Amino acid sequence: MPRALTAGDREHARSLDAQDPLRDRAGEFLAAPPGLIYLDGNSLGRPPQAARRMLQAAVDEGWASDLIRAWSRGWYEAPARVGDQIAALIGAGPGEVLVCDSTSVNLFKLTLAALQHQDGRTTVVSDDLNFPSDLYILQACCRLLGGRHRLTRVPSPDGIHGDEAALRAALDEHTALLTLSHVAFKSGYLYDAPALTAAAHDAGALVLWDLSHSAGALPIALEAWGVDLAVGCTYKYLNGGPGAPAFLYVRRELQERLLSPIWGWFGQRAPFAFELDYAPAQGLARFLVGSPPILSLTALEGALQPLAAAGLEAVRRKSIDLTTYLIALADAQLAPLGFTLGSPRQAARRGSHVSLRHPDGYRITQALIEQMNVLPDFREPDNLRLGLAPLYTSFEEVWEAVDRIRRVVIEGRHLQLSAARRAVT
Ligand SMILES: *Cc1c(COP(=O)(O)O)cnc(C)c1O
Repeated sequence: MPRALTAGDREHARSLDAQDPLRDRAGEFLAAPPGLIYLDGNSLGRPPQAARRMLQAAVDEGWASDLIRAWSRGWYEAPARVGDQIAALIGAGPGEVLVCDSTSVNLFKLTLAALQHQDGRTTVVSDDLNFPSDLYILQACCRLLGGRHRLTRVPSPDGIHGDEAALRAALDEHTALLTLSHVAFKSGYLYDAPALTAAAHDAGALVLWDLSHSAGALPIALEAWGVDLAVGCTYKYLNGGPGAPAFLYVRRELQERLLSPIWGWFGQRAPFAFELDYAPAQGLARFLVGSPPILSLTALEGALQPLAAAGLEAVRRKSIDLTTYLIALADAQLAPLGFTLGSPRQAARRGSHVSLRHPDGYRITQALIEQMNVLPDFREPDNLRLGLAPLYTSFEEVWEAVDRIRRVVIEGRHLQLSAARRAVT
């Protein structure tokens, strides 16, 4: 049945939910407090029941009973095993993904490895939509290699869309690496990753995608696209839990040619031989550093189950429907109150969150959190960021959230609040 994703009433939202093939997946997550509308799954995904089950077992059976023996009963292989499960969600093969460290640290390891491999090439190309931590890491890498490398930050024309033509023009025989966020953290702009990967390869550059805001939200085909390197975090749409370890991907043919800049024992050829000199492990394991966070890895392993069962094609279809519907409601209800769209209108160029800009965006966000039982987040200078997680966000919640935003502004609730920023926004 064709679905009309137009602004309508609550009944219309309910009819969209009734036709949603993923509507029962929300039951696979631990319940949120009644009445709470959670729109920050792009920052911290809700906990799947399976994550708690596996975490509980890791404590009760592994940690309490098996104790040190648990390292030989699945713990030691966990970074590679859970990596293979993530590989299946991002179009990579077995042995091409590891779960370890944070996204920032993995970006550091892969960037330095790539720059050292690309001897003689001295520029790193990125953009100003990228996550600041990524840009800091790139700046550090350029500096650590003796100051010969330069970071080129291609500007977005409007703070919303990436400039793919300018990025292509920035690629030349000096480019060592092109690295971008696949989906931009603020506007949700979705890059044409296969096209830009091909363009970078034409210039002889390597490509590294940060999949933090796309993994688990849309189909990704790293191998088919020919991507060299990728990193991403697991606590957003992969629902791995606060501080869950990140992942890294290295295309198989490159693995033996790259060296990690951090030579820890888990990346050594034979960690338990305790040799005094470093020799890199074969394959991807060389990018491990030290002991993996087993409890977080185990929670993540459980957390991946609902996503793997639902399939990313279905997830992407619902994600597009949810964001399209939210934009239709915002156009009808919120534009007259001073909101503008801070995300691409074209669904094919949009990830799974929508930013709505308003001069009083910060105080409106605070009013939603403190008085209206809605949890979005805020990104400077004026973005109310609404994350729509297809596994558990319903159309009725989107409708209700827009209605509560409208009421905050009409009733002037935000005007009583302070615009002084909190430490975490
Ligand atoms: C969330 C996010 C990160 C997170 O980095 P950590 O080091 O895991 O805190 C990195 N890059 C991007 C693009 C992100 O969206």
